[in-house]
Amino acid sequence: MKVLIAEDDPTSRRILEAMLAKWGYCVITARDGDEALKALAEEDAPHIAILDRLMPGIDGANVCRKIRNMEAGTGEYTYLILLTVKGSKENIVSGMEAGADDYITKPYDEQELRVRLSAGRRIIDLHKELTTAKNHLLEQSRTDPLTGILNRRAVMSELLVEMARSQGENNQLSVALLDIDHFKSVNDTHGHAAGDAVIRECVLQIGSALRCDRFGRIGGEEFLIVLPSAAEDNLPVICGRILSMINESATMFNGSAIRVTASIGAATWDGAESLDILLARADKALYMAKKSGRNCVKISGPMEFAVMADC
Ligand code: GH3
Ligand code: MG
Ligand code: MG
Ligand code: MG
Repeated sequence: MKVLIAEDDPTSRRILEAMLAKWGYCVITARDGDEALKALAEEDAPHIAILDRLMPGIDGANVCRKIRNMEAGTGEYTYLILLTVKGSKENIVSGMEAGADDYITKPYDEQELRVRLSAGRRIIDLHKELTTAKNHLLEQSRTDPLTGILNRRAVMSELLVEMARSQGENNQLSVALLDIDHFKSVNDTHGHAAGDAVIRECVLQIGSALRCDRFGRIGGEEFLIVLPSAAEDNLPVICGRILSMINESATMFNGSAIRVTASIGAATWDGAESLDILLARADKALYMAKKSGRNCVKISGPMEFAVMADC
């Protein structure tokens, strides 16, 4: 594990460095507070730092304060040990209040420093485990378990992000709702497991037609595709390509090749309407695609649900 030693006195710095290296730590050194901050701000920075309290420039307590501010909201954590000759109660309290996790007074006992470092190491290991578990849970909460793509909640929040971005960058943004045609009959004819395999195959086809992953499963056999930078004029080509890919593919299941088609309703955001209205327009277009025979794309006009265009 990497440890930063920030100490202005060269002799003390060298002694500390040799000791930590002997205990198996990978040591990085800094000669003052500025160098310490720089080292701790780097990518792959040490997760433990021993900071001399009195250093030229930014002192140890202020380094602690700045590091805690930098870490706020990032999920990062550095275990900070202040090292000083000032061992008064007020000093300890102010050092800990500045964000230090531990405090060692000079002259320190070698074995005490070793076990205090081990305690820091345990905290950092626990923090890493917690972060990994949190990220895993977050990933699970965003993922559709059957297909591995975004689930309803996650793709809706992607859409909200893209709406904000589109407004900021003055870019066009479109959405497409895709629903597999007569999917119930796939289940009825081949069984539910075959239906699942067909859903997964369709996801593969949508993914390769789009070459991006901004789409999610919002219902059983229904998908929301977010199309940043896609203007209304581009929709027939993009959506047509998705439908062709699905048409041309087949799902092999228990020796049978199962073929399906899909229908798409698409809409371009007018830059002002709500997410619900945008999706309602796409849904209405999808309804029209189903009504006009399926396996086709219908595009909602910007102003009214009723204005539709064939691809
Ligand atoms: P349409 O062309 O009008 O869309 O007809 P459809 O049969 O595709 O639509 P309908 O809504 O009647 O049926 C959808 C079916 O999808 C019903 C439901 O049992 C099935 N389904 C929903 N989720 C899953 C799933 O995760 N796996 C499987 N295998 N089937 C699912
Ligand atoms: Mg000093
Ligand atoms: Mg369907
Ligand atoms: Mg459906």
